[in-house]
Amino acid sequence: MKREPILWAMAGCIILICAARQVLSQEIILTEKGTSSWTVSPLSEDEQVLFASAELSRYLQQISGASLPVNPARPALSGKSVLIGLKNDIPAHLSAKLPEPKPGYNGYRIVVSADPEQILIIGDDGPGVIYGVYALLEKLGCRWFYPQQDPADREVIPSQERIVLKEEAWGEASPIRYRIANGTAWFFNFDFSHALKQLDWAMKNRYNGMGWQAAASNSLRSLTMQYRDMEDAGLMDALRKRGMFLHGPGHGFDQLLPTDDYFADHPEWFGMREGKRVPQQFTGAQFCWSNPGARRQFVRNAVDFVQEAKEMLIFSVSPFDGGMACTCPECTKAGSSNLLLQLMSELIDTLATVRPEVLVETLGGYNPVKEPPTDKEAIHPHLRIIWAQWGRFHGVGYSDPAYDSSNLDAWREAARGGLTVCQYYPDNFAEPWVMGPFTVAMESDRDYFLKNRIDAVYMLMWAPGYWWNHGLNAYLGGRVFYDTQLDPFVEIEDYATHYFGAEAGPLLAAYYQGWARNIGLSYRIRSGHATDQDRAQLALERRQFIDPAVKAAENKPLLAHRVGKVAKLHSLAEKIAETHAYKQRIRELRKNGSFGQAAALLEEARRKVHDTMYLFYVLGGLNQGLMDSNEVPSFIKMTVQDWLEEEETLIGSKSRNIPGEAPPPSETNMLPAEVTQ
Ligand SMILES: [Zn+2]
Repeated sequence: MKREPILWAMAGCIILICAARQVLSQEIILTEKGTSSWTVSPLSEDEQVLFASAELSRYLQQISGASLPVNPARPALSGKSVLIGLKNDIPAHLSAKLPEPKPGYNGYRIVVSADPEQILIIGDDGPGVIYGVYALLEKLGCRWFYPQQDPADREVIPSQERIVLKEEAWGEASPIRYRIANGTAWFFNFDFSHALKQLDWAMKNRYNGMGWQAAASNSLRSLTMQYRDMEDAGLMDALRKRGMFLHGPGHGFDQLLPTDDYFADHPEWFGMREGKRVPQQFTGAQFCWSNPGARRQFVRNAVDFVQEAKEMLIFSVSPFDGGMACTCPECTKAGSSNLLLQLMSELIDTLATVRPEVLVETLGGYNPVKEPPTDKEAIHPHLRIIWAQWGRFHGVGYSDPAYDSSNLDAWREAARGGLTVCQYYPDNFAEPWVMGPFTVAMESDRDYFLKNRIDAVYMLMWAPGYWWNHGLNAYLGGRVFYDTQLDPFVEIEDYATHYFGAEAGPLLAAYYQGWARNIGLSYRIRSGHATDQDRAQLALERRQFIDPAVKAAENKPLLAHRVGKVAKLHSLAEKIAETHAYKQRIRELRKNGSFGQAAALLEEARRKVHDTMYLFYVLGGLNQGLMDSNEVPSFIKMTVQDWLEEEETLIGSKSRNIPGEAPPPSETNMLPAEVTQ
């Protein structure tokens, strides 16, 4: 009996030890003090599996300093291995450990197991296995919010000598099959170095294709020449390695029936404008889609090109941008949409004989084919449509009752081979210069996608100088159309805390969430309609979020650089909104006949506008992705500055008229064809 307490104590110790082992056994230590006894083991020689393995090893080294060798030779199915492979290549005993697969495309599943010590990263296909690696790295705190175009702003990679993972299993897949990033460097004359960085970023954020907008025929570079340039720059290799595909060449009809090659011999192939045959250029017209000879040559040239372009999965080719349709009697009678669809049918049938796997797509809803086709029977069952609403207001989504979806619905029904929806979330050309996150539109659009089984989303990023400015929308767009359970509004918090740090992060999360909720503010600032309430709101945000965030980051150069970008754009918003107040007050004075006062205030306004334009130029010149320098003296000046001259004239002539102004975008729902008219 005397010994009993000791026995009990011993038993207690054993229980404690067992419990401790139990706790320990739920975790694995991947690296410690900058070293590791783990191996990364690709389960096959597939290009994407090898790429995924190399990426994992590279980032684990960046995080911990430890080097995990990639060792395909050793099929280390026992302990301390990260096994990376495709679901069809793995042995049954490993398959059995995986969680149920999610339905959809480019899926991955991950198992972190402590007994045996093993990590499985298994993809349904090549992109899936790569996403799996990135998903595991994200668990460790890695984030890739922006392409690596700013040397002063590196990727978000944590630094920890000891990497510990909890026992866990999870997976993801996308119900949306094609998720295409049309990066700013993938337009016209490529910036190849940025194009590669954007491709790398796109893959990390769950896009699986890159959109290419080719240079027009006046560049004197044919589509084939441009494709070879991309190949020479390594872009096609980079796509292949990741299992990504190419979508394009976009507006390109002028390249496939070049005026220089055919106009002299076949003027009748070209479009009629005001009774004359004219070339395929802005002041001309689209070629004559009702002419069988023109169509035959176009199809021949298109097929020749596609045979060269091996990485092209979606051959998306559209009338050249901004050109009206042919107005010859035949074309007028048949209607441009119907003729375009007939042309595409001929292209699909011919292409199917040489590259049947290529999907053919053309534009709908956008000039010169705004109206959906009336002849539904003529639509080829494999024809895809890319539908685009340029200049859209992102305060309402496609599922919102306030959104008139009749054009979208009609084109969706016409797109028998599938619809690609071109999204302008990361566009600053027609969208706000200081933009909030378009989370309201993202959620509502996604509902529309899922409900109507839309299989492709296309994210258009333009112009090049805004790449950071619209980067958050590009990032969120990629994430939420892959993982359709993600709440983009909540993701703002993840973004802000990872990117701006623990102190400034929560402040800027609240700031961006405020802008997301009040998306009309972005548009009023863009269009000249900022109100007193908006100006008060901006001032409040400066006090509550911007100034404290700048303060919180001031001794941390990297965070200060990032917070500084937000602060600069906020200053711009304040300055623009202030110029609107001047315009509004000057007009009010003039309306009431106080021309002297109006003239005096106009002088003050000149200085304010000058300051504002100066800030636009400065932000463009910083080359940090905030502002596009080329747009400042053109489109931006037109809106921000040119009203001064108009007011000067009106004051001089003692006019009480208020010039007609376009309503704010929040009050319109323009289709692209209406905007470009
Ligand atoms: Zn015609």
